[in-house]
Amino acid sequence: MDMFDELYKYQPIATKIVQNAYRQKRVAHAFAISGAEETQLHLFANWFMAVFSCENNDDGFPCGECVHCKQILKDEYIGTYIIEPDGATIKKEQIVDMQKQFTTYGLTQGARFYVINQAHTMTISAANSLLKFLEEPTSNVYALLVTKSPDMMPITIQSRVQQLQLNIMGRELIIKKLVNDGHSERLATIAYELGYEELNEEAAAQLASLTEAALIYLGNIDVAQINPLVAQMDLEAQVKNKSQADNFFTILLILLNDILDVKSGKKETTLFGIDDIEKKNTIKTIAEKMDTIITAQKYLHANVSSNLALSLISLRWNAQKEGE
Ligand SMILES: [Zn+2]
Repeated sequence: MDMFDELYKYQPIATKIVQNAYRQKRVAHAFAISGAEETQLHLFANWFMAVFSCENNDDGFPCGECVHCKQILKDEYIGTYIIEPDGATIKKEQIVDMQKQFTTYGLTQGARFYVINQAHTMTISAANSLLKFLEEPTSNVYALLVTKSPDMMPITIQSRVQQLQLNIMGRELIIKKLVNDGHSERLATIAYELGYEELNEEAAAQLASLTEAALIYLGNIDVAQINPLVAQMDLEAQVKNKSQADNFFTILLILLNDILDVKSGKKETTLFGIDDIEKKNTIKTIAEKMDTIITAQKYLHANVSSNLALSLISLRWNAQKEGE
């Protein structure tokens, strides 16, 4: 699916508002874009710029293919100036630098944009500088204030910009979108739970291999009846660092939760094809397993090494088995 098609599908209202303004040539000079997840906000800001810069714009629909569209999608468009927080905040100097660029720079014929990401992190003096700039709009220059928390911007700024409130995508839509992008439902579910809104090839491959390792680990213990301490030895080769261990633990929790959904009658079979593990466990043994994982994850966050945290799970699960 074309990246912009995704927006027409998931953000039908906000895209129409912009297209209508474009067609009537009555476009505001400053917008606050908010309401959705980070990647969706970013895509929308890019789409907005493409509407005004595309070489083959078809009545408010940018082509996504021309030089300008491509540069915009890569965040490399010459007519765009991007401001991000410097540390925790956006500082006055950053706004002043941007203003200088916009008053001296006149190489581009077409529309120019400044995008302020995480606009709610502007300091008061940054906001005051911006306010002066907003009060003297230049034709063909557009301000895009991108923020998850528009209410945290000063009221004076809020009242100067047009709000474009996007739809929050939420679990179901993001998983659907990831599946549309060509990932399996299993991988899409794992990715969503780990906080991904989109997956590049490298991340997809890594999550797939961690998921495989988690499935084997669970299967070894409950179906193949391999001692958890032995099963762990295989694991250490695949879970190489802390962030992988953290993801591995969360994936184990997702798998166990899949089993709980079957046990509690929410669905008939597991999404991850682990019905044999489901049958070997009771709600109590699953709860104990989850409890151990959560403890191990806490240790990991408290700077215990990933191997030690993995050992904790193996040791406790072994003790649980012996206690059965
Ligand atoms: Zn284009």
